[in-house]
Amino acid sequence: VIALLALTFLAQDPGPTPAPPRFQDQVGTLLRAIDQQNLERTVRALVACGTRHVLSATEGARGTGAARDLLQQQLEACVAGSGGRLSVGREAYKVQNARLGREIEVVNVVARLRGTNDPERIYVVGGHYDSINSDGRDATRDAPGANDDASGTAVVVEACRVLSRHPFPATLLFVCYDGEEQGLVGSGAHAKALAAAGARVDGMITNDIVGNTRGMDGKTYDGWLRCFSYSARGNDSTSRSLARAATRAAREHVAGFDVRLVLRGDRYGRGGDHRSFFNEGFPAIRFSEPREDYSRQHKDVSERDGKPYGDLPEFVDFGYLGKVCAVNVALLAELASAPPPPSQLTVSGTRDRYAIDLRWPEVPGVAGYELVWRLTTAPDWEHALRVDAGGRHRLDELGLDDVVVGVRSVGADGSRSRVTAPPEPDALQQRGATRDR
Ligand SMILES: [Zn+2]
Repeated sequence: VIALLALTFLAQDPGPTPAPPRFQDQVGTLLRAIDQQNLERTVRALVACGTRHVLSATEGARGTGAARDLLQQQLEACVAGSGGRLSVGREAYKVQNARLGREIEVVNVVARLRGTNDPERIYVVGGHYDSINSDGRDATRDAPGANDDASGTAVVVEACRVLSRHPFPATLLFVCYDGEEQGLVGSGAHAKALAAAGARVDGMITNDIVGNTRGMDGKTYDGWLRCFSYSARGNDSTSRSLARAATRAAREHVAGFDVRLVLRGDRYGRGGDHRSFFNEGFPAIRFSEPREDYSRQHKDVSERDGKPYGDLPEFVDFGYLGKVCAVNVALLAELASAPPPPSQLTVSGTRDRYAIDLRWPEVPGVAGYELVWRLTTAPDWEHALRVDAGGRHRLDELGLDDVVVGVRSVGADGSRSRVTAPPEPDALQQRGATRDR
C-alpha cells in the first residue's frame, strides 16, 4: 500500500515550476511578424494622397484628410486582434502658427495599447505624416514625402499591428504626427497635453527619414540606424539613457544591424518631434537613416541635368525599413515588458579603498537588477553585472571619479529597463561657476 501511495504521489507531482517565457524568445516571435510589404503599401498609399501639407484638403482623395482616413483605418484594423486593449482615435489641436502666420488645426492619429499591470507608464512611438515640397506654404502641389516621413509613419503603423496582438505591462502609444514640418506643432501639442495631465512618459521615439540607403556619393549605407538624443548637461540625460537602451535592443535582437549613437540632439539646423518631448522633460530619441540625400527632402518632384529630385517611393529601401521597424518593436517590447527603471541612483566612493557604493530605491516586481558602468569617455555601457538583491551594492576595484555607473531593472522574463544614472558631480557649480545647460 505504501508503495502504491508513493507511486500515486509521483504521478501527481507537477515537477519543478516551469521557467517564465524568456523575453528573448518572445521578441523573436514579434520580429518574425513584421511584414515588409505592409510598410511598402503604407508608404505608397500616403504618397498617393498627393500632398499631406497641414493646410491641404481635408475632404476627397487628395490631401491630408485622405491621409488621416487611411492611417486611422490601418490602425483600427489592429483593434480586433488586440484583446480589447487597443483604442484608436484622432486628437485635434488648434495652434497659432508663426511659420504659417495664422491659426491652424493639427490632427494626430493615435492608437493606445493599454498596459496590463502598469498602464500609467507610457512609451510613445511616432512618425510624422505631414509633408512639404520646396515651398513650405504650398498646400496644393505634390509633396510626396515618401521618406520624410511616410517611412517613419509606416514603421509606426506596422509596429502597432505587430505589438497590439500581445499584452504588455506598460502602455504603448502609436502616434502619426501632424504639423512636424510647420515647427513640430502636432507633437508639441501632444507632449504639452501629456505633461499637463501628469502623464508618466518613460520614453518617446520618433522615426523621421528612416528609409533611404543610397548616399549622395552613390554608396549604399544599410547596416545601421542613427540615434540622436538631447542632453541639457553631461552625457547621461534620460534621453541618452533611452538611446543606449536602443543600441542594446538592436545588438541583442536584430542580427547584423546596429543603432549608432550620435551624442547630440539633432542634425545642424534641423528638428524633430522628439524635441517636443525633451522640452517637457520626457526621455526622447530620434532615429534617422545613416546618410541623407538632400536632393530628396522638401523638394519639388523634378529633373535637372538628368538628376531626379523629389521624395518618391522608388528611393525608399523597404528591406532596410523592415530592419528599422524591428529595432522599434524590439525596443518598445522590452521597455514595456520590463519593470520601470529605478527612480534614482546615488553613488559614493569609499575612503579606505577603491570601490563604489550604489544605493537606489527598490522597484516593485523586479527579478533583479543589472549594474552597468563605462569610462567617462566611452559613449556606451562597457560592463554589466547582474545582482539579485536590490537597494544597495558595492562595486569593488573601481574608482568613482573615472567611470559612469548606472542601474537597470530586470524582469522575471529577462527584459531590462533603461538605465538610471546618478547626476554628475556638481562641485564646480557650487563654487559659483556659470550654470551650464
Ligand atoms: Zn521629417
